[in-house]
Amino acid sequence: MNFLEERILKDGIVKEGNVLKVDSFLNHQMDVRLFDQIGEEFKRRFADEKINKILTIEASGIGIACIVARHFDVPVIFAKKSKSINIEGDVYVAEVESFTHKCKNQVIVSKKFLNPEDKVLIIDDFLANGCALQGLISIVKSAGAEVSGIGIAIEKGFQPGGQVIRNLGFHLESLAIVDSMDYTTGEIKFRENA
Ligand code: 5GP
Repeated sequence: MNFLEERILKDGIVKEGNVLKVDSFLNHQMDVRLFDQIGEEFKRRFADEKINKILTIEASGIGIACIVARHFDVPVIFAKKSKSINIEGDVYVAEVESFTHKCKNQVIVSKKFLNPEDKVLIIDDFLANGCALQGLISIVKSAGAEVSGIGIAIEKGFQPGGQVIRNLGFHLESLAIVDSMDYTTGEIKFRENA
């Protein structure tokens, strides 16, 4: 079992509706030392990829992405959620459905910050149905840039996102893959060798 799986077992809480609560260390209160370990591990796993930018989505991806970026020594861009219908022409736009909040958001990235030469590592805290990732991938493609890799802290392996993204041929690394979780007992099972 790796360091993140151990921490999930210690402090994660299984909620009704297939939600894993990790707000005591990952996406509300943040354990920056743990983020540093996450950064080190992604640096190891993506050692062979060319990466000059990190892209994430607000809000909960930002903290992890910033610490990961220290290990790659590259800037972080976060896609901003925007409710406005009239988006000006100087941004890339994608539509993302939120798993936790059950609503649709447009996410935007300024054209100033993504260029065709960019080799992008996408980072996020969770992968569930894959909507957030699909949105980020489409923004990178709109810029004519390349997705060099995708690093996820926690993948919920019983939801389809991971398989869809791997089938598309992306280099996806998830540090913990939850294969099942039981709300009544609180039991969490991980995929081996995540
Ligand atoms: P997806 O777009 O892959 O369905 O969901 C990814 C996004 O939903 C993540 O950025 C994360 O914020 C949120 N999310 C999905 N599942 C969970 C969960 O079980 N727990 C928490 N805390 N967030 C989740």
